[in-house]
Amino acid sequence: MPVPAPARVDVAVIGGGITGLCAARALARRGVAVAVLEAHAIGWGASSRNGGMVLTGHKIGAAALRSRYGLELARRLYSASVESVDLVATIVGEEGIDCDFTRCGHLALASKPAHYDYYRHEAEVLAREYAHPVRLVPRADLGAEIGSGAYFGGVVDERSGGINPARYVAGLAAAARRGGATLHEHCPAQRLERSGTRWRVRTASGEIDAGEVVVATSGYTGAVAPALARKLLPIGSYVIATEPLSPALARELSPHGRMMYDSRHFLHYFRLAADGRLVFGGRARFVAETPATIRDSAEALRRGMLSVYPQLRDVKLEYAWGGTLDFSYDTMPHLGQVDGYYYALGYAGHGVALASLLGTQLGETLGTAAWRDNAFAQLPFEGLPLGSHRYKSTFLQAAALWYSLLDRVS
Ligand SMILES: Cc1cc2nc3c(=O)[nH]c(=O)nc-3n(C[C@H](O)[C@H](O)[C@H](O)COP(=O)(O)OP(=O)(O)OC[C@H]3O[C@@H](n4cnc5c(N)ncnc54)[C@H](O)[C@@H]3O)c2cc1C
Repeated sequence: MPVPAPARVDVAVIGGGITGLCAARALARRGVAVAVLEAHAIGWGASSRNGGMVLTGHKIGAAALRSRYGLELARRLYSASVESVDLVATIVGEEGIDCDFTRCGHLALASKPAHYDYYRHEAEVLAREYAHPVRLVPRADLGAEIGSGAYFGGVVDERSGGINPARYVAGLAAAARRGGATLHEHCPAQRLERSGTRWRVRTASGEIDAGEVVVATSGYTGAVAPALARKLLPIGSYVIATEPLSPALARELSPHGRMMYDSRHFLHYFRLAADGRLVFGGRARFVAETPATIRDSAEALRRGMLSVYPQLRDVKLEYAWGGTLDFSYDTMPHLGQVDGYYYALGYAGHGVALASLLGTQLGETLGTAAWRDNAFAQLPFEGLPLGSHRYKSTFLQAAALWYSLLDRVS
């Protein structure tokens, strides 16, 4: 039974995923009256459907971070990613969330020989300039990490972890509620209007008078926040899960149970789940998920899975699903204020950890001057060149062609 939203709150948070719930949890801890408005069920978006990889790092590598932002800011951005994994561990512990969180580490896999050279360079930069050692695994030693001959080496970062995302987001919701936040499902925010120094948030079931607004809608950002929607690229991603594997087969595929992903632009990411299933994702599409795209993607992902693990030929697939990732044009997360409301989004496939961090930091600093010091508030947040979003679908098609070409030639 949906809980009716209050008529007046200090802060209205729009979006009930990891960002919104972490912001609400942190705000409630400050004694702020906060209501979370979620268009569907809590956790309905990417937060419950993702691969559960709690990763260090960003979509762009450490060397690129340094050349784009300079070493000082790059170090802050990178260490925030490491801190974000620690924060997930802290939240899970403090709130007693039963979500199979483990510090299993991640294994990034070189799909081509030249990609291993890239990993070698990144490992040097990480150790020398970020004081963050990672371990290179040459092709000859890869058998200790993965039961597949498809890759040309890899790199292990022991700081990363894995989680059951649906249970994590349910635990965050319970924590926010215990702290005093109210959560309102099936309550889409339809319009934000300034009313003096406050906000009128129009919803399908009435109006809320809010002191501040946080937009935490990530890949599902729509007409309620047009300034943000223009700056985001919603990208579909798809996942399949096998039947539970025998313990021996599971150990053969992934002896250390790491989070794994390859080095292509249209990458595959995969892991064992706690119940022994192989969860295998990828197949980025520049359209939102539908039953038809999920069906097509499941078939393509099965082929991808067999190219990595031919030994799964006779294993049944039991689940397939899709969701929408939130990318900004610079593939970096952003936290800030636009048109008077706050936002945090653009995690580019690293949102399990980074949405936990940015949501929490936004909740802790909102309404004070301190949010402006956040490393992610220092990044320019550009939309498409020419400032126009009318060409977005053409841009996305061109980008898809460009990256699939790069995957073939580089
Ligand atoms: C298939 C897939 C696999 C992924 N794998 C990983 C992974 O392994 N590791 C990783 O770190 N990241 C991964 N990600 C990304 C990660 O899941 C996201 O970055 C993260 O969940 C974003 O959380 P969020 O709370 O900001 O957004 P979301 O969880 O997407 O939540 C946004 C919510 O806003 C709601 N909303 C939108 N508009 C309105 C409105 N007007 N009113 C009210 N509510 C509204 C939506 O219904 C939605 O529930 C994956 C994503 C997908 C789709």
